[in-house]
Amino acid sequence: MNQLKKEILFLDPVCTHNIWGGSRLREEFGYPEAGDDIGECWGISAHPKGDGTVRCGVLAGKKLSEVWEGHRELFGNLPCEQLPIMAKLIDARQDLSIQVHPGDAYAAAHENGSLGKTESWYVIDAPEGATLVVGHNAGTREELAAMIHEGRWEELIRRVPVKRGDFIQIDPGTVHAIGAGILLMEMQQSSDITYRVYDYDRLSDGKPRELHIDKSIDVITVPAKPEEESVRSVKDQPANQLNVLYRGAYYTMFQLKVQGETEFEQEYPFLFFSVIAGEGTINGQPVKKGDHMILPCGYGGVAVRGELEAVAATV
Ligand code: ZN
Repeated sequence: MNQLKKEILFLDPVCTHNIWGGSRLREEFGYPEAGDDIGECWGISAHPKGDGTVRCGVLAGKKLSEVWEGHRELFGNLPCEQLPIMAKLIDARQDLSIQVHPGDAYAAAHENGSLGKTESWYVIDAPEGATLVVGHNAGTREELAAMIHEGRWEELIRRVPVKRGDFIQIDPGTVHAIGAGILLMEMQQSSDITYRVYDYDRLSDGKPRELHIDKSIDVITVPAKPEEESVRSVKDQPANQLNVLYRGAYYTMFQLKVQGETEFEQEYPFLFFSVIAGEGTINGQPVKKGDHMILPCGYGGVAVRGELEAVAATV
């Protein structure tokens, strides 16, 4: 059992196909997935819709959900039913639909006891002039409802410019949408309860995708948090240390830029670790852009060498 705690759980992720997806997750991150509509790579996830597989070691071939069920000690014996967070890469060739997630209380009452969803975005790449949606411009819930029912979308949604190295916090109740051309890393509660507010009148298989107008109006926070509290640049954080991007009730998210060599202690119940640029080694094991892994509870000292950038998370 102690031996398992010394093994990094490297994961083979699950990719998804989405009408707005592209080909960068294959071409730039190396996932062996066919098609030009690859929207998401569920890099670290034990969710039934995208359950990763352990790539090597004693647990090779096991689904992450099986590891969670059978070896809870690797996750600090957390008293949760499911692995509470997941890490995704998202490639938006086109705009995503405009959405909002409920919080825990609303989801429990209206979605069969599901969890709500908090999520956080770290922009890995964005073209010149890229924008995304975070927040809205309605002053009251009545005004919000009127703008939605009357289809005054451009007036309603708050589109903000973003660039590489920006961090965006999406609390429950935040209207949000990733914009065309953006590639980002998402950390989120392991929930897929999403209310779609507007889909640019697009068709999927000849039909518009379902909207959830009433639930959206119920859960959207009014007024929205100011823009400057939603987006901030984190690209100039110090190298060779775990920089906290976000610390909240459900998870803590870190960014780590390694130039040469750094060491830290894995002192958390578990640590998600996703390499988003460059390559190097972790305690002698080679890692490169696109690798996702979990450093288990009790893993101890971590020495990272090379030139790489990673996003890490724990609860
Ligand atoms: Zn979302």
